[in-house]
Amino acid sequence: MNVNIPEIFACNVFSDEVMRTKLPKNVYKTLRRTMLKNEPLDMTTADFVASAMKDWAIEKGATHYTHWFQPMTGSTAEKHDSFISPAPNGTAIMEFSGKALVKGEPDASSFPSGGLRQTSNARGYTAWDPTSNCFVKDGSLYIPTVFVSYTGEILDKKTPLLRSMQALSKTAVRFLKMFGNERVTRVTSTVGAEQEYFLIDKKMYDQREDLILTGRTLFGAKPPKGQELDDQYFANLRPRIAAYMADLDEELWKLGIYSKTKHNEVAPAQHEMAPIFTTSNLGTDQNELAMEVMEKVALRHGLVCLLHEKPFEGVNGSGKHNNWSMSTNDGQNLLDPGDTPMENLQFLTILCALIKGVDEYADLMRLSAASAGNDHRLGADEAPPAIISMFLGEELDAVLKAIEEDAVFKTENQTFEIGVNALPSFPKDSTDRNRTSPFAFTGNRFEFRMVGSSDNIACPNVLLNTIVAEELSQFTEILEPFAGTEGFEAEVKKLLKNVLKEHRRIIFNGDGYSPEWVKEAARRGLPNYPSTVDCMPHYTDEKNLRIFRKFAIYNRNELTARTEIHLEKYSKTVRIEARTMVEMARKQLLPATLEYIDKLCKSIATKKQIGFTCMTEEKIAKKLNDLADRFYDSIVRLEEQDKEACAISDVLGQAKAYHDHVLAEMDIMRSIADEIELNMPAAAWPIPAYSEIIYNV
Ligand code: ADP
Ligand code: MG
Repeated sequence: MNVNIPEIFACNVFSDEVMRTKLPKNVYKTLRRTMLKNEPLDMTTADFVASAMKDWAIEKGATHYTHWFQPMTGSTAEKHDSFISPAPNGTAIMEFSGKALVKGEPDASSFPSGGLRQTSNARGYTAWDPTSNCFVKDGSLYIPTVFVSYTGEILDKKTPLLRSMQALSKTAVRFLKMFGNERVTRVTSTVGAEQEYFLIDKKMYDQREDLILTGRTLFGAKPPKGQELDDQYFANLRPRIAAYMADLDEELWKLGIYSKTKHNEVAPAQHEMAPIFTTSNLGTDQNELAMEVMEKVALRHGLVCLLHEKPFEGVNGSGKHNNWSMSTNDGQNLLDPGDTPMENLQFLTILCALIKGVDEYADLMRLSAASAGNDHRLGADEAPPAIISMFLGEELDAVLKAIEEDAVFKTENQTFEIGVNALPSFPKDSTDRNRTSPFAFTGNRFEFRMVGSSDNIACPNVLLNTIVAEELSQFTEILEPFAGTEGFEAEVKKLLKNVLKEHRRIIFNGDGYSPEWVKEAARRGLPNYPSTVDCMPHYTDEKNLRIFRKFAIYNRNELTARTEIHLEKYSKTVRIEARTMVEMARKQLLPATLEYIDKLCKSIATKKQIGFTCMTEEKIAKKLNDLADRFYDSIVRLEEQDKEACAISDVLGQAKAYHDHVLAEMDIMRSIADEIELNMPAAAWPIPAYSEIIYNV
């Protein structure tokens, strides 16, 4: 199959290129200006754009349009309207007005609002976000929108992201002026999200209620072979996987997603797709879209794509590395160390802003990746620990140490004095080899490795943008009086020295998986929040509320609402898992076990009649019978724990009960079931075993 990539790329996107050719020149110009300045669009322009968009979409096979938004449910939402409009004599014409493009009014009452609904009104509205791309998919024109309540409270994930990008741009532009960047008028945060996923056979999936209802296996004894041979990572692609990936790439390309890298990941049946980075806003939309396409394309191949953070116990789970940086409108990557002393100084200052920010807001970083699914990954020897720290690499760390100690940084053939000589260039790839760090500098960006595979990446990026905006604005306050004076560099050095002295504790270049690090981090006073219920309440800590308010990202109500939504979602997720476990145990696993015990007993009786020994059967039957007793007790206990947790009305109290009691009992129950599985013949076990699921594609 020959794919002409340039020809198909973005063929289903109403891209800048399409706009330029389809819109009258003045309309195009007005639209661009609106996009860049974030101004509202006037109705005349909107009507022109809508009409051109409709004609283009119809050419691409669309009959409907939908506002496409990201409510707090965790998935995207859409409601389709056709372009159809009545015309004289019972005929129909296709119509799409500027008003319909710019604003929609979906009923907000069925989306999680975390209590905001009581204070406002059930109605919500969606508003077009022209900084993302409209596209055609499955016969509809998709229009990316924000989603807010009628009284203006935000109900989605995109609005805070756009706000944080604006806040960052404003503060960064002012900050950069001090370093002589007079031409910079805009700074945009960028993201490249490496997406991990599992592919399994649909036939296996269909036989597992746990996968169907919860996205992960709640039972399953470890297979004899896991990932210990490391023979899966970057291994050659089996034909079925290769065909899937080729198909996926093509679909993503058509939607304007620069799918770039594909490979097998560490765990059996685990893979990764990485796109080329783009703006945080578009990158978030595209990641949401990519996840949906990944799932859909899998079905065409008789496969199921699992995006859960921990589908299988005992092998690695899936994350999403959120590569983050900032670009200026004149093309600088602000995390590129640069070649000149002044560029280096600017880079080191931004780096120190990040060091300070990550240290001060480690709780926010942690909770931006918190979910019931991701709790199974973080700190489990495969993903970064739940403790936030930063990895900078030895070379860069040595430079910072020199700054802190007022020393000169020397390498074999070069010395470096801040503001005087140029930094030695850091080998980009060698900076990246610490895979155990949650937040690693990788030469020209930071890689935030905590994010869960199924998560929307808006939240981590909102927090990163807000934290950096805060630190850059603090630095600007201190340094601005000296900008353009001879003393500027000395002031910068002084500032960096102080920041490093105070916040060095967040830098850790060692092994983040080691138990020593947990102790060392505690000694350094770094927060360690192992689970969602531990970190989520810190969302509304005063210091956090302060920066969100300062940059108008969230007000107190919105933040409280968000905290509640996350905690409620946590409880619901665990509840569904617990109930699925009970159901599978009562309806499938326990009956199968009892049936097999019964079979053994019958065989024992028969054998005894003819004077045979039956020691083996007796041993197995006894063992299984004991396990079945324990299994049953655990089922009953789990039901009770769930009932008790469910009755708690306080949101945090309930989430804690689900964590402390329900999850704990689920673990016990699973270990019993897994032991039963190991003692049963394969044919008698009612659900596919791990080895059948993960080694069969
Ligand atoms: P690795 O697995 O070694 O980290 P990948 O190539 O799989 O590398 O992924 C790196 C990701 O980082 C890609 O999505 C890439 O586009 C992204 N990236 C590169 N530069 C930047 C940047 N300046 N800002 C944000 N993301 C970036
Ligand atoms: Mg990576």
